[in-house]
Amino acid sequence: MGVAKKVVDVRSCVAEWRRNGLRIAVVPTMGGLHAGHVSLVRAAQVVADRVIVTIFLNPTQFGAHEDLGMYPAERNRDLALLEAEGVDLVFMPTREDIYPPGFATRVVMDDLTDLMCGALRPGHFDGVTQVVTKLFNIVGADVAVFGEKDWQQLQIVRKLVADLNMPVEILGCPTVREPDGLALSTRNGYLSGDARDVARALYRSLSLVAEEIANGVPTELACAQAEDGLRGAGFDSVDYLECRDGETLRLAMAPFKGARVFGAAVLGETRLIDNVAVPV
Ligand code: AMP
Repeated sequence: MGVAKKVVDVRSCVAEWRRNGLRIAVVPTMGGLHAGHVSLVRAAQVVADRVIVTIFLNPTQFGAHEDLGMYPAERNRDLALLEAEGVDLVFMPTREDIYPPGFATRVVMDDLTDLMCGALRPGHFDGVTQVVTKLFNIVGADVAVFGEKDWQQLQIVRKLVADLNMPVEILGCPTVREPDGLALSTRNGYLSGDARDVARALYRSLSLVAEEIANGVPTELACAQAEDGLRGAGFDSVDYLECRDGETLRLAMAPFKGARVFGAAVLGETRLIDNVAVPV
């Protein structure tokens, strides 16, 4: 497995693969890798000849009071895991490689970025669109693989690529979960034993709401009851719990085809998000 730290190194490796007519996939990550990331790598290996994983803890998508400083950064563990999966190249730039002194360009999207996590984390998706644009330009992959766990991010990346005519295909992959339904997340590592027990309520609540909506229960009622349920189960607060169209992210209406239930809730210092399809 190659490990490139510099933009020129990843570019020359990709250029060589291109000369040989190979199809290239990229899996962008922030490190702290788990089985969810591995599922993206495996999906990438199915659709491409060569797989690049990027590991970059992007500071511009973290708010001033968020967890950038404590985010797991065990790079040797991440690299061993990727090597075992047969990844071809890891791109692991420094902050200065991505944002050198004098860097001044932002990539700002309207609309999809203003709701749900965008409303709660101002500037977060500006950081995402900025870094994804840079990574796509650096790597020049044919296909990029993202997780459905971060559904809003996935839709934003799809729109970014469409709006700016980026020559890359976006592949979304299903959320990998613990046996009790909790979506795997690097941030689950922050959860203490008791909090870990509480955390499972998020997926259960979203699934229940999705079923209720499919069975005709009014969305506001189903969502409000589930919010109360999450607080009752031990969550400190609920940022949002809403049923929205999976593509436009507008509030969903009957017949709820393509609708999803989205939730974000806070447990101590940890903010968890998840989403499930309405089964209609
Ligand atoms: P992150 O390193 O958290 O920025 O995530 C990198 C990629 O992994 C994103 O496309 C995420 O949506 C995806 N991802 C994170 N958790 C999961 C999961 N449990 N199942 C599938 N994909 C995931």
